[in-house]
Amino acid sequence: MREPRDLSVVIVGGGFGGIAAAIELQAHGFDDLTILERAPDLGGTWFHNSYPGAACDVPSHLYSFSFAQRRDWSRLCSPQQEILDYLHDVARDFGVDRLVETDTEVASCTWDDEARRWTVTSSDGRTWEADAVVIATGQLHQPAFPRIDGMAEFAGHSFHSAAWDHEYDLRGKRVAVVGTGASAVQFVPEIAKDVQRLVVFQRTGNWFLPRKNHRYPAPIRAAIRYLPGLQAYRRRFIFEYGESLTLMIRHPATWGRIGRARSAAFMRWQLKDAAVREKVWPDYTFGCKRVLFSSWFLPALQRPNVELVTDRIARATPRGLVTSDGTEHEVECIIYGTGFRTTDFMFPMDIAGAGGRTLREAWAEGPHAHLGLAVPGFPSLFVMYGPNTNTSGGSIIVYLEAQAAYLRQALQQVCGRGAAAIDVRPEVEAASDGEVQARFAGTAWTRCDSWYRDAQGRIVANWPGYMREYVERTKVLDPSEYTFVPAPDREPALP
Ligand code: NAP
Repeated sequence: MREPRDLSVVIVGGGFGGIAAAIELQAHGFDDLTILERAPDLGGTWFHNSYPGAACDVPSHLYSFSFAQRRDWSRLCSPQQEILDYLHDVARDFGVDRLVETDTEVASCTWDDEARRWTVTSSDGRTWEADAVVIATGQLHQPAFPRIDGMAEFAGHSFHSAAWDHEYDLRGKRVAVVGTGASAVQFVPEIAKDVQRLVVFQRTGNWFLPRKNHRYPAPIRAAIRYLPGLQAYRRRFIFEYGESLTLMIRHPATWGRIGRARSAAFMRWQLKDAAVREKVWPDYTFGCKRVLFSSWFLPALQRPNVELVTDRIARATPRGLVTSDGTEHEVECIIYGTGFRTTDFMFPMDIAGAGGRTLREAWAEGPHAHLGLAVPGFPSLFVMYGPNTNTSGGSIIVYLEAQAAYLRQALQQVCGRGAAAIDVRPEVEAASDGEVQARFAGTAWTRCDSWYRDAQGRIVANWPGYMREYVERTKVLDPSEYTFVPAPDREPALP
């Protein structure tokens, strides 16, 4: 038997995942906690992504912790600063903000077979010893840049949407935006108003659904604030709405047609310009890529100062971008809205588990983990928002809370058995991975290429089912799915 307070935990990442894990663990007596955060402040994705118009397209009453609900959100989908402030407030209210060591980039996590503990090393050479490690770096934290010939020759300014250059004044400039994903559709309408000319380079069209996201009028704010149960009802409603999106993605030939028809009607209504409509129209199944929520992006594309280019980018020159038809698009600034290296997960961090086997070796054929959380041979190492735990229809916060409670149970098992660590059985992990992969069959996710897939085409980002299924599956940890690494003075292995 070990007391939770005797077990030290290092959490890598101070975003929603890391904060959720710290709150959960601390509430159950684990108070030797350290959160290592690469950035100068906590917040994760909501710290880094500060582009104009940045907001969450999941309504805030679901995109927030169930145990820290609010009734004073300014609008349905809160802007970035409001979400960041929320996370700060929650971290402070639950006393975990003081656990965050900022400006600390973790370079490696190494399991010591003898000491039966982890050593976490930062890129500046500091080290931490821990009984358990929680990797809460998420799937969307390493900006991806396209490979464009001659990119380095471009003489103008350029930056990625996840590292917006707020010092650079876009007003009156000729600007190119590469990419039309969830980030670009938020910032394009904002900057289109200011720039002289905007060229938007689209590789693939998207399905859209409406989202205006005006500030709540005073009566709505008052109703949410003062009517008992209203916000809880709205949370349940939006949870079910999210599940209905998953239903459409899971059943593209039936329910998916309803989503497609709704989206097509909305897009037709918004796309008055037939030429733009033709270019924008997606050629893949509704829901295969993330459905985008915006009532402002398609109108922005039809502004007189905006041009939508669908010819492939062939190369960059000092003056701009040349497309496959030979046109040179001269611009002063290129903004990359090209997303993230999603399938890299926590890499380039080096992680070495039992016997010195690295996570790169374990994931040589693609990332996989039991419930997205546990990898065999990596004792008491937990991944939050790990493989196959992304959601296309719901709120990632629901998953993160479930993961925090699950890994807390794992560590309680370690304490209860007086063990050194907990390790998922390889056959259990293999079976659950097989089951997850099998569940993609016939779904919309399989019907196009997307950031949900790795280089081999395996879908490694998304959970194939509903939020409630994931919550159910992670509710109670089954110790028979695990082996326990005995404490150094207790041989042989515990059952
Ligand atoms: P993304 O969805 O991956 O979009 C990247 C865009 O860049 C796509 O249009 C992609 O085209 C294009 N692209 C990538 N490489 C390219 C290349 N070499 N040449 C031309 N175009 C290229 O990235 P994101 O918009 O940053 O969003 C990433 C994820 O973050 C979202 O899916 C979502 O989960 C999350 N997010 C959420 C919110 C929210 O409100 N909740 C907001 C922003 C982001 P293809 O489609 O052809 O690949």
